[in-house]
Amino acid sequence: MAGEPQADCLFCKIVAGDVPATVVRETDNVVAFRDINPQAPTHVLVIPKVHYPDAASLALAEPALAAELLREAGEIAAQEKTVEPGYRIVFNTGPGAGQTVFHAHAHLLGGRGLEWPPG
Ligand code: AMP
Ligand code: ZN
Repeated sequence: MAGEPQADCLFCKIVAGDVPATVVRETDNVVAFRDINPQAPTHVLVIPKVHYPDAASLALAEPALAAELLREAGEIAAQEKTVEPGYRIVFNTGPGAGQTVFHAHAHLLGGRGLEWPPG
């Protein structure tokens, strides 16, 4: 069920502390940690502690939590000194878009030039 921890979910395991992660910021509802395979000097994953399969289902069920996730991403961008010249927040949604972990997460990318459009 949406919101309930999923036994087979990697990011639920990180929230539970069963899989280690380099946490850069944490609130009661959100945790952010460094991507294990960084694609930029700053590459942080920002996730809700509760399980939703993707960003849209999170926003539908808990809009305030989706907003908190975005706010935290902005705070981390400032913490990582990447507000200038800019950063990118990405929600890969679906396997065709590169989603491999089906627990909603924002990629915060910065610290290098970011081309547009992305691949
Ligand atoms: P996505 O492909 O959009 O679903 O993003 C999943 C991200 O999780 C990828 O960028 C992976 O590099 C990252 N990832 C996978 N396992 C871990 C882990 N144990 N700790 C941190 N990041 C991870
Ligand atoms: Zn999960």
